[in-house]
Amino acid sequence: MTKRVLSGNAAIARGAYEAGIGVVSSYPGTPSSEITDNIKYFDEIYSEWATNEKVAMEVTIGSSLAGTRSMTCMKHVGLNVASDPLMTLSYTGVNAGLVVVVADDPNMFSSQNEQDSRHYARFAKIPMLEPADSSEAKYFVQKAMEISEKYSTPVLLRSVTRLSHSMSVVELGSRKETERKELEVNIPKWVMVPANARKRHYFVEDRLEQIQSDLNHNLSDFIHEEINNTDIGIVSSGIAYQYVKEALPKASVLKLDMVYPLALDGIKKFAGKVKKLFVVEELDPFIENELKAHGINVENLNRSLMGELSVERLNDIFSEKGYVSRNYKPLYSDINDKLPQRPPNMCPGCSHRGIFHAINKLKLFAAGDIGCYTLGLLPPLSAMHSTICMGASVSMAHGIDKGSNGEYARKSVAVIGDSTFLHTGINGLINSFYNSGTSTVIILDNRITGMTGHQPNPATGLSIKGSPAPQVNIEVLCRGMGISHVKVVDPFNVEECLNTLKEETAREELSVIITNRPCIFADKSVISSPYYILEDKCTGCKACVRLGCPAILWDSEKRLAFIDETLCTGCGLCPKVCKFEAIKKRGE
Ligand code: SF4
Ligand code: SF4
Repeated sequence: MTKRVLSGNAAIARGAYEAGIGVVSSYPGTPSSEITDNIKYFDEIYSEWATNEKVAMEVTIGSSLAGTRSMTCMKHVGLNVASDPLMTLSYTGVNAGLVVVVADDPNMFSSQNEQDSRHYARFAKIPMLEPADSSEAKYFVQKAMEISEKYSTPVLLRSVTRLSHSMSVVELGSRKETERKELEVNIPKWVMVPANARKRHYFVEDRLEQIQSDLNHNLSDFIHEEINNTDIGIVSSGIAYQYVKEALPKASVLKLDMVYPLALDGIKKFAGKVKKLFVVEELDPFIENELKAHGINVENLNRSLMGELSVERLNDIFSEKGYVSRNYKPLYSDINDKLPQRPPNMCPGCSHRGIFHAINKLKLFAAGDIGCYTLGLLPPLSAMHSTICMGASVSMAHGIDKGSNGEYARKSVAVIGDSTFLHTGINGLINSFYNSGTSTVIILDNRITGMTGHQPNPATGLSIKGSPAPQVNIEVLCRGMGISHVKVVDPFNVEECLNTLKEETAREELSVIITNRPCIFADKSVISSPYYILEDKCTGCKACVRLGCPAILWDSEKRLAFIDETLCTGCGLCPKVCKFEAIKKRGE
């Protein structure tokens, strides 16, 4: 029996392998990216990075229809993008099993909102499982697959950052190959015209009732009761269950594997065994409200709905109620003091820095987007003024144009990365073109999906496995739409960036500027010998410091800039802003 220590994400990938899944299509998004990044190593599974989550889900609906067990993985905001097919997939049901993995990000470590995806289970009327550790993460893929095929339903498998990225022991099993089913040709089931969809709505309601009833008859498969001190009973699930076990080791606990629908009969029985019943969950009171709606008496926890739950927070809450003493001290409470501080910043040599410097210099309003370049909002670059969701920059810039009768279009730009452009930005650009927009759209083509871990995208020229793949040419794509003004600039050529920006924002027509430098992680050959600063030439004007490169530091005693040569990638941007020729390349 082989055991491994795996992250929650690696365990889900292993679960897909063991469950005999044959197709996985996903779009990367923290904290879910490493699931598919791990799946790509299993030759038995066809895997791909799709252009966005909606496409990924539709691919897996197709592969399920074709008879192959399938899975799609995304972060919580990705599920918003994929919610259109999901809502109707609930009606059609599946042919071979289909699992939708969604990873939420409480505390927003790398997200634009903190939504609780459990609501999607109720919204779409489909089951959702929530594992509490890596072992369950692996096992629940198999469990989700069985539920999916038994009830003809997509099944949501919910993770959170803490589960996806923490590691625990997993027992490895072998792959259960399943025979591919026949392609399902069933018009009333799969063609959701109103006449068919009306009938399928009955199916959805009946299915939910059936799952609920079966849950109550097979309680031990879905709930785990631990009776200890009966003064308080805690209902919990997922990672919150782990916090409960640590903060309240003597409490009676009911752990739920399935968070929608709920095993109400079992929960009612548990409630009858304890004096006071609490629900411990992260973010929204999803389970708590559900129990209250079914007449189960749940005590009010008075917890914040914001941020991550923790053992410390639970200790605070329950010590105030007198159930435990206020004595919890995390094992590594001083870890933050010991770790080197690493504030968020774009990397040394980042290809986005030059164009952001130009945007800042021209004091343009930048409608931004989602990616590592969102860090351009930070001082000293301060070159991003809005960020809503994937692809929004382009359509918002169009709105700024139309909402100001063109006035603000002369003072603003949209800024979007290559992967985000191909994700959903492209629709906004088609809209601007069609509706005679006059905005300026900057596409930062660094040929990689940087923020999520350098996954390839259709503009990279590589497949998920790193082999050569067809490459979308963004310049040709934009010209093919019919846009006349498409310019490609070198983001490290500051003069070119400034001049192009002035020219294109002044133009009362739609224009696209594409920056063409690869991410230093996508093409390490661009890294060269470092630069250094000549003390006798540096005047301390700070022009280089204002680039915000982590390799450029300020000596407050000497009042001069200096370069940390161990960080410098030799990108050559800073000498272009130094008027005093104080910055030189080693070896030249
Ligand atoms: S831009 Fe040149 S002169 Fe100004 S601080 Fe930097 S190195 Fe010194
Ligand atoms: S050349 Fe200048 S801007 Fe580029 S990485 Fe080195 S210090 Fe930073």
